[in-house]
Amino acid sequence: MAITPGSAAPRRPRAVVAGGSIGGLTAALLLRDIGFDVSVYERSRSQLAGRGAGIIAHEVTLRYLVDSGRRLDDLTIEGGLLRYVDETGGTVHEAPSNYRYTSWQALYRGLLELFDERRYHYGHALTAVRQDDQGVDVSLSTGATERCDLLVCADGVSSTARSLLLPEVEPSYAGYVGWRGIIPGADVRQGLLHELRFDITYQLLRAGGHILAYPIPTADGHSDGGDIFLNWVWYRNVPRERFRWLMADHEGTLHSLSLPAPSVRADVLDELNAAAETQLAPALAELVLSTAQPFVQTIVDVEVPRQVLGRVCLLGDAAFVARPHAAAGTAKAAADAWALAEALRKADSLDDGLARWETTQLALGRQLVARTRTLGDGAQFERSWRPGSTDLLFGLWAPGDARFLPR
Ligand SMILES: Cc1cc2nc3c(=O)[nH]c(=O)nc-3n(C[C@H](O)[C@H](O)[C@H](O)COP(=O)(O)OP(=O)(O)OC[C@H]3O[C@@H](n4cnc5c(N)ncnc54)[C@H](O)[C@@H]3O)c2cc1C
Repeated sequence: MAITPGSAAPRRPRAVVAGGSIGGLTAALLLRDIGFDVSVYERSRSQLAGRGAGIIAHEVTLRYLVDSGRRLDDLTIEGGLLRYVDETGGTVHEAPSNYRYTSWQALYRGLLELFDERRYHYGHALTAVRQDDQGVDVSLSTGATERCDLLVCADGVSSTARSLLLPEVEPSYAGYVGWRGIIPGADVRQGLLHELRFDITYQLLRAGGHILAYPIPTADGHSDGGDIFLNWVWYRNVPRERFRWLMADHEGTLHSLSLPAPSVRADVLDELNAAAETQLAPALAELVLSTAQPFVQTIVDVEVPRQVLGRVCLLGDAAFVARPHAAAGTAKAAADAWALAEALRKADSLDDGLARWETTQLALGRQLVARTRTLGDGAQFERSWRPGSTDLLFGLWAPGDARFLPR
């Protein structure tokens, strides 16, 4: 699709992508491939590292890498069983999982390698957006302004673009947080590694809440030779009156959406470890206690009424934040990017393409937020999960579509 300004010769359309994580990078690569002149502006000052830990792989998340020649086995670990245990460690349910596990780092590094790093600008946060009939002006934290035909905002859960364009949309706290940790396989006891290294292991807690653990590839995407990490997420209910105690750092500053490992206070960590000892199955307790630097992510719902505002679109977590129980947030960001490129490729004009894209992606976002809200409330508060139920399987469009079934 070429842009024809007035009577001048057609020129390549120009796109700016704000936010250079999985959603932003996938969009940047795909827009480049369909003829856009693309630049990415990322708030972080250096290569993003250690974000988000483990990710359940979906075909759509891996699609760009696999289409570019990367081997599935180099990007992911094939899962063994899906297992539920009780607090004694006894098995309550087990079945083949058919999941594949990857890491945020392996996806990010792989995508970044395929993009022109000279067009990926660290330390540039989007700060303001203005539009006129001809295009969009993007103001950046460096003081620079970029003019473009299309602005893709993939700036995540705390999206600046969303708060500028849709200030009425606020993240809504779900009543619980995800404690997360990753630990190199080499740093855990052999017996524990053997117990957890192939399978996804869940425990539903009697008092509400749940924990899951699964293996992921190392940061460079390799899992050969037994070189893996163990990844866990423990969803713990935290009433509002306790939230400040948990999320205040050493200086008393409140972190509303995530508390990075160095900011977790010793008294908070002590409480986590004490709870692990009394509430978790022995292997899961040992895993939590062996993790040097766990961190916290607040679980929120975010829903936007629109994803397209003129020539600006909101993609991935900038638009919808779904609770992690479908393990589909990254997949949705990637699916938004694929659908955007496809809609623009087929459309006669940018505006037509954006309108078509918005219709399908609003529907996807809404169903995912609704489904994961039900799942989350069921595990955390209603204790309605039944191990083995197909409704609990990971999936983006529907439960279970994250499985890689044997062909
Ligand atoms: C506990 C937990 C477990 C999860 N597990 C899974 C899982 O197993 N599978 C899965 O698919 N998903 C999972 N998710 C969700 C997943 O992490 C997110 O949905 C996904 O990272 C969204 O990708 P994104 O590219 O939209 O945004 P992000 O990955 O959040 O990236 C946003 C980027 O924008 C940058 N940025 C922010 N503001 C600006 C600005 N003003 N200007 C420029 N750049 C900016 C940020 O630095 C960041 O790099 C989980 C989430 C949680 C909380």
